Amino acid sequence: SSSLKDSDPVLFGFMQDELHRQQEQIELIASENIVSRAVLEAQGSVLTNKYAEGYPGKRYYGGCESVDEVERIAIERACKLFNCEEAVVQPHSGSQANQAVFMSLMQPGDTFLGMDLAAGGHLTHGSKVNQSGKWFNAIHYSVNEDDQRIDYDAVEALAKEHKPKVIIAGGSAYSRIIDFKRFREVADMVDAYLMVDMAHFAGLVAGGHYPNPLDHAHVATTTTHKTLRGPRGGMILTNDPALAKKFRSAMFPGIQGGPLMHVIAGKAAAFGEALKPEFKTYAKQVIENAKAMAEVLVDAGYAVVSGGTDTHLALIDLRPKGVKGNMAEESLERAGITCNKNGVPFDPEKPAITSGIRIGSPAGTTRGFGVAEFQEVGRLIAEVLDGLAENGENNAEIEKAVLARVKALTARFPIYS
Ligand code: PLP
Repeated sequence: SSSLKDSDPVLFGFMQDELHRQQEQIELIASENIVSRAVLEAQGSVLTNKYAEGYPGKRYYGGCESVDEVERIAIERACKLFNCEEAVVQPHSGSQANQAVFMSLMQPGDTFLGMDLAAGGHLTHGSKVNQSGKWFNAIHYSVNEDDQRIDYDAVEALAKEHKPKVIIAGGSAYSRIIDFKRFREVADMVDAYLMVDMAHFAGLVAGGHYPNPLDHAHVATTTTHKTLRGPRGGMILTNDPALAKKFRSAMFPGIQGGPLMHVIAGKAAAFGEALKPEFKTYAKQVIENAKAMAEVLVDAGYAVVSGGTDTHLALIDLRPKGVKGNMAEESLERAGITCNKNGVPFDPEKPAITSGIRIGSPAGTTRGFGVAEFQEVGRLIAEVLDGLAENGENNAEIEKAVLARVKALTARFPIYS
C-alpha cells in the first residue's frame, strides 16, 4: 500500500506544515515537548490495530500475547521511574486519569478540594464547565496575595470546614515546589484521600529534581506528554493495591473501552528513556533554563508570579508594562515564539484577555538549548513585548527582526532532520 504522501497529499501537506512549524518556532508552551523518534515509531505502529479490552493476562479479546508484554513493560517501567507499587497506564489522557480517580473515590455530589483555576489549577479540578465541577461539589483554595504561593493555612481551614473526600494538589500554572507532606497532614486531619496531579512536573520527579508525590499521596495522576516527554496520554500511580484495583475498574469498564496499545507502547518507550541517566541531566537543565529565561524578563522590567520558578515554567505578569496576555501571545507567535496567554492570580482581566503569559523550557531543552540560548530567548521575548508596549498593534517591524533571530537560533538546534 502507498504512503500517506502519495495516497493523501493534502493531508500530508498540512502535516508537513506542522513539522516545519515545530522545527522553526521556539516552543515555550509549558505543557508541550518534543518526543524522540523511538516514541513516534511506537505510537505510529501496527499496535493501533489491536483491541485489548481488559488487563494483561485477563483480556476480552484473543491475540493479546504481544500487547500483554508491551503493557507489562510500561507498568514495570512506570513503577521503577516513580518508585511505586502500582501503575495504570491505560488512561487516554490526563483528564481521563483524573476522572477515573474521582469515580473510584467519590459519589456524585461528594465534596473535594482543589486549586482554583485562576491560581494555577486545572479545569478537571472542579471548574464549573468541566464534569468535575458539574458532578461534584468542588471547593477551591488559592495562593496568598503577597507571595503568590499556595495558602496552606487556607487549605487546612477549608478542609476542616467542608470535610472533602479528596484533596487535590498540583496544577497547570504553578511554578513552585508543592509541600506534599503538609497536604497529607491536612488530608489525614479530615480523613480525606490526597491525590496529586503531577501532570506538569512528572518529568522533573522522574529525573529526580522535584519531590516524589508518592512519598505522601494516596494516588498520583499524570499526563505522559509534558515534562515526561512521552506520547499524549495519562497514567495513575499508587502504592495501595486495593486502590489500584478500584482505579483499574474505573478506567475499564468504567470510563474507557479498548486501551490505545500503540500509545501504551509509546509510553513504555518514553519511560525507558526517562530511566536513563541522561534524563536526570535533562530535568536539571529544564529547571536551570526556565530560571535563566525568567531572570532575563525580570531584569527587563517584567514581573514573574511568585518572584521566580522552581520548575519548568514561569508565569509572567505583564501589567508593569501595560501589555495584555492575548496581545502578547499573538505578537510573539508572529515573531516565531509560541506560548500561551494565562491569567495571573487575582487577574482583573477576563480569561480571553489575561494579564500574563505562561512560558516553559521543556521543549527548547529537548532540542538542546542551554542557559545561554534561554537567556537569548528571554531577550527576544522582552524585545517583542517592549515593542508592543510602545507601538501597540504596530509591532510588525520588531516581530520581523525577532523572527529572523528565531530562525537562526532554531537552525542551530535542528529537530527531526
Ligand atoms: N492535569 C493537569 C495538571 C494538566 O495540566 C492537564 C493538561 O493540561 C491535565 C490534567 C489534562 O490532561 P489532558 O489534556 O491529557 O486531558
